[in-house]
Amino acid sequence: MTTYKSKMVEPIHLPAREERAANLEDAGYNLFNLDADDVFVDLLTDSGTGTMSAEQWAAMIRGDEAYAGSSSFRKLEDAVAEVMGFDHVVPAHQGRGAENVLYGTILEEGDVVLNNTHFDTTRAHVANQGAEAVDCPVPEASEFDSEGEFKGNFSVDEARRVVDEVGAENVPAVILTITNNSAAGQPVSVENTRAVREFCDEIDATFVLDACRFAENAYFVRNREQEFADATVAEVAREQLSYADVAVMSGKKDGLVNIGGFVACRDETLYEHAKQRGILYEGFSTYGGMSGRDIEAMAVGLREAVEEDYIADRVEQVRFLGERMAEQGIPVFQPVGGHAVYLDAGEFLPHIPAEEFPGQALAVEIYREGGVRCVELGSFAFPDSDRPELIRMAVPRRMYHKEHIEHVVETVAAVWDRREEIGGYEVVDEPPMKEIRHFSAELAPLGRV
Ligand SMILES: *Cc1c(COP(=O)(O)O)cnc(C)c1O
Repeated sequence: MTTYKSKMVEPIHLPAREERAANLEDAGYNLFNLDADDVFVDLLTDSGTGTMSAEQWAAMIRGDEAYAGSSSFRKLEDAVAEVMGFDHVVPAHQGRGAENVLYGTILEEGDVVLNNTHFDTTRAHVANQGAEAVDCPVPEASEFDSEGEFKGNFSVDEARRVVDEVGAENVPAVILTITNNSAAGQPVSVENTRAVREFCDEIDATFVLDACRFAENAYFVRNREQEFADATVAEVAREQLSYADVAVMSGKKDGLVNIGGFVACRDETLYEHAKQRGILYEGFSTYGGMSGRDIEAMAVGLREAVEEDYIADRVEQVRFLGERMAEQGIPVFQPVGGHAVYLDAGEFLPHIPAEEFPGQALAVEIYREGGVRCVELGSFAFPDSDRPELIRMAVPRRMYHKEHIEHVVETVAAVWDRREEIGGYEVVDEPPMKEIRHFSAELAPLGRV
């Protein structure tokens, strides 16, 4: 049940079918090239796209824009201490800014970093320090349709194998990403978090939590891990975060704001070093690339993220979307994760080979059918990899109502009904850097059925 009402509205409109077809052609069949005004329900990302509360807007007016020592920053420190349990905060403009601050502080060339699965910007920042990023997901992370309750977990067995090979002295940090964004937003258990803590002690590594979705993860833990059945989501979050030495955070996720981020830690020395690098890249240590009003809004957002009504509404809305589609036989990643629903385009459109981009074909048809935008994460976005042909429908926080979600379900169901008529695509224009081509490349339909 939605436990909020609208206080401010923004009209959206569904362009006519012919307009949608023309928009696709103009965009070179790349949904990143669409005007957002031409999108009816936008599921491109859950990052920084959510709706702020009345309390957050009120807090923005109170934002203190002092260059140093602003009262807004003190409020952020208090919120991070109370909600997440860390004493020290180095603010940054968003998650990747925080990653640059932290990984530039603790990594050196030749290091090896382990993670359940590195998120794209994390992998890039590890590489940027001359270090190597190695993923250690549990085997069930890649099973599309299995029952696992914590498919986001870190495989300590796999990590041991890597450490035996490269030597513990070359592994200064282990990262645990909760929820595991790159593994369909699957949660990580507290039991697994404790095992990672022990492993870090064993090899003398810094334990980093990529905490972008710490509240969504805590909700799953409360519902799935017996020990926490009677705990509040806020209690679970504190418990899970208590095992880490340091957290990196993108406020654009569970900070419930449109921009912002930080590094949070306990160790005085690490704090001092991170602060210096923060000053170099982000700004003085009491604003770090954010305005006072942005900081103030994030301090409120962190507290709201662990409120029971909010988090239940949030995660259950995503589940509703996934389960309604799965009921109709549409191939949905199971169980549904915290922030997004993933569809297997390889199974949806088995007649389209990987080199003709089934995921992109599906994403294009979903826009054509109902003005809904999602993102391809298969052979178009990740050329030369053997990833499955997934598309992601990420749900912005507190933005869409049940009718919008039902519209998405009806749209995908209509595409499902005519799936055999859908053809593949070819790339006709791409930028020099293939790794980021999906943001700007243009495609053309192959016209084959
Ligand atoms: C979004 C995200 C980041 C990076 O944060 P930005 O605010 O987009 O820079 C890092 N890690 C994970 C798991 C994320 O989801």
